[in-house]
Amino acid sequence: MHPPDADTVLVRHGELGVKSEQVRRKMEGRLGDNLRSTLADRGVAGDIERRRNRLFVHTDDPEGATAAAADTFGVASASPAVRVEPTLDAIEAALVAATEACHDGGSFAVDARRAGPSDAHPFASTDIESEGGAAVWDAVERAGGDPAVDLDDPDFELFVECRPDDAYVFLERRAGPGGLPVGTQRPVVALVSGGIDSPVAAWRLLRRGCPVVPVYVDLGDYGGVDHRARAVATVERLVEYAPSESWTLHVVDGGDAVADLAATTDDCRMLSLRRFMLAAAEAVAEDEGAVGVATGEAVGQKSSQTSANLAVTDAATRLPVHRPTLTLDKHEITQRARDIGTFETATVDAGCDRVAPELPETDASLEQVRASEPEDLLERARERAAERETVPIER
Ligand code: ATP
Ligand code: MG
Repeated sequence: MHPPDADTVLVRHGELGVKSEQVRRKMEGRLGDNLRSTLADRGVAGDIERRRNRLFVHTDDPEGATAAAADTFGVASASPAVRVEPTLDAIEAALVAATEACHDGGSFAVDARRAGPSDAHPFASTDIESEGGAAVWDAVERAGGDPAVDLDDPDFELFVECRPDDAYVFLERRAGPGGLPVGTQRPVVALVSGGIDSPVAAWRLLRRGCPVVPVYVDLGDYGGVDHRARAVATVERLVEYAPSESWTLHVVDGGDAVADLAATTDDCRMLSLRRFMLAAAEAVAEDEGAVGVATGEAVGQKSSQTSANLAVTDAATRLPVHRPTLTLDKHEITQRARDIGTFETATVDAGCDRVAPELPETDASLEQVRASEPEDLLERARERAAERETVPIER
């Protein structure tokens, strides 16, 4: 919801503010570039102005620009606002116009802040609140309403941010995803199956600033065209959150390996398959300059994901294995997948389920898994990774 004639979006970032001056400037620069990419990706016109601790988007599409900011990692909140002169008269007029256009009953409150030197304005923020509040009161009455102020839990809240050179009036602070701007961390490979969990894991790493290099392991007869299409669709959705990055899906052929494992291994099969995937991911990471591997595993979600078994699979790579969903319950991961729009693509049956043995080991040791799997399994994973197919994901 925005006031009439809204022409600016105030964009606040969270954690960047606590960084050192140098780091903060760099991160703010990246945030501005990323937001510019998202605006362009969505066809929303807007000019970004950087000021200390804030970005301002000057735009004639305040709703589109606010939605873009609210999807940009590093953004804490965004407000579509109308810019006015920093005088009490101009602010009051904007508050009244916003009330006439948007108030549809219920209590109200005016919340005002001033920024800059204390003598920048001949009035205090409390003056804006009391005089602005009185003007809103009159406007509600004029419209035939029954004005009521509720400072604690108002139905209709009007915000004023008054700066030395301009003032902004707005009606909401739309929450952004938080985190850090994508590209402020080194990249991480994400093993993406197209299921529910791994896209959420990848999204959470993007949210912390890591560009993601998606790797999908084609399971041959155990996977299938739908399975792969699902992974592609998932990555296409993730790209919308970071259109500033160039995205390529790396497809590693795991068909032979999984057929071999199905024929020769039993209770530790899924652990060997996961080790194959991690070794392949490591090889891709080396080529792509990535510094870790991420999966969508969660403690105890499946037999291959018991705390004991996770320790065994980790030994397949020297890179750190990141598991952003490690401690989430399935329903929490599912809720997040719905929120970020990757749930709908995750409805095809996962191939892995058909590879799993009847009675999988839940408490394996590394020795046990190594003894049961083909000796050259990890070497084969690296070979298959070297021959991988690369699928550019265009926007
Ligand atoms: P998801 O966990 O993504 O919902 P899933 O349930 O099919 O998919 P799991 O058996 O839980 O897969 O696999 C654990 C993790 O291993 C996945 O979260 C993902 O990171 C990785 N993974 C599984 N299958 C594949 C695959 N075919 N290609 C790439 N990574 C995969
Ligand atoms: Mg899973």
